[in-house]
Amino acid sequence: MIYLDHNATTPVDPAVAEKMAWFLREHFGNPSSIYPLGRRAKELMTEARERVAAALGVDRGEVFFTGSGTESDNFAIFGTFEASPGRDEFVTSVIEHPAVIETAKALERRGAKVTYLPVDAQGTIGLDDLRSALTLKTGLVSIMHANNEIGTIQPIAEVVRIAHERGIPVHTDAVQTFGKTDVDARKLGVDYLTVSAHKIYGPKGVGALYIRKGAAICPFLRGGRQERGLRAGTENTAGIIGFGEAVRVLEEKGRKERARIEHLAETLKVGIEKNVPGARFNGHPTNRIKSTVNFAFPGLEAEAILLALATKEIYVSTGSACSEESEEVSHVLRAIGLPPEIARSAIRMSLGRSNTEEDIAVVLRELPEIIRKLKSITAFHPEG
Ligand code: PLP
Repeated sequence: MIYLDHNATTPVDPAVAEKMAWFLREHFGNPSSIYPLGRRAKELMTEARERVAAALGVDRGEVFFTGSGTESDNFAIFGTFEASPGRDEFVTSVIEHPAVIETAKALERRGAKVTYLPVDAQGTIGLDDLRSALTLKTGLVSIMHANNEIGTIQPIAEVVRIAHERGIPVHTDAVQTFGKTDVDARKLGVDYLTVSAHKIYGPKGVGALYIRKGAAICPFLRGGRQERGLRAGTENTAGIIGFGEAVRVLEEKGRKERARIEHLAETLKVGIEKNVPGARFNGHPTNRIKSTVNFAFPGLEAEAILLALATKEIYVSTGSACSEESEEVSHVLRAIGLPPEIARSAIRMSLGRSNTEEDIAVVLRELPEIIRKLKSITAFHPEG
């Protein structure tokens, strides 16, 4: 099997699985209990919190565990909206993950005014567009760090500078950058930042939200005092311990592994450009998460390509995992100016730790052949 869908999710690292299994076997205590069983679970959770905090360059008291990247996005947006009455304008971009877009729509239904910043042909927002969108009533700016479909990285530090000059806080969804590039929340200057464990070889169903000390936010879930009262509910302790271990492995494998994966992705990109006539690369050529390689194959349907590749046990995606089941054309590819019929022909290949040089050689052998065959079939049916 050749797995090229690491942006959708990653295989759990063996060390993570082991640590979680050990934890589940040995430590069932409720971290809110004050006797030793509970205290031990709490200590292990604190260790995980310290690891996530160190990786993000922040204090452990600024990291709040949640149930997913999606939840962290909802928390940041609803939580700040509720915390700043009267500031009912919200600025985001057209290419955000549904976790932000759908939350923005929910704010609109509550009477908020939302501005969705456009992007250029490579998927980057314009800072002048941002400046003109901000008003005295803007309560939050939320711009993703890198896009999950095309990988383009946004100028978050500049976004922060512009917003902070006007006293407006900034949230960034760093789900796709954490582990793939340096994500230092202090250097970026953001007030809130979202990460998710299952994109970094950790378990599914655990995320975290960085909340800068002193930044205003209301609780997301109400109940007990867990997560300092901001996210009530007995914690997913095993998941959190797994998240911490995934971060430890990330630090251990470090830049060397990142460079290897980026090199493989570049070989794949160059190989497709060279060997597949008419292939159209989507995304920023340089300023992007390099492990994300998105191509359109005009004249074809992405689904046909995906299924043909799957028969060779090569797994890719046609867009974000969340939109996989919908018939809609990718809102990201539409936003960078692709006509619907071309957007419908795009596949995303996202590389990760499981990939080898041999994998890429196989894809570069199979893909051009699949495209050629599909084109020869569709050539007989110009209408469809
Ligand atoms: N934000 C981005 C940019 C993502 O790519 C994803 C997952 O695909 C999410 C948020 C949602 O994260 P989770 O799957 O942990 O809810």
